[in-house]
Amino acid sequence: MRMMTREMTSAEELVRKWMMNQQEIGRTTEDMKHTRFVYGSRIMEIGEDGTIRERSEGDVIIFRSPEQPQPPAHLCRCCSMEYDTEKDALQCCAYLD
Ligand SMILES: [Zn+2]
Repeated sequence: MRMMTREMTSAEELVRKWMMNQQEIGRTTEDMKHTRFVYGSRIMEIGEDGTIRERSEGDVIIFRSPEQPQPPAHLCRCCSMEYDTEKDALQCCAYLD
């Protein structure tokens, strides 16, 4: 039970951090609504009013097509912010826990 709570907090913090990053580059709640996030087998969605909703019913299976382009080298694995160096990318969301 304790682990569940921790995981839930962490996932929501990741979404919040992503939203803050997006706001910093000028995106509005309107732009971000209906954005979905996959965290393990949970799906979070940004609602009309900018709140984060849980959309996890059943399992989540992600298929990646082989022709999908590889992400650029220095992306934060959590929020997808791009950095000049891998070190900066790793440090981006490293302290959320
Ligand atoms: Zn990050």
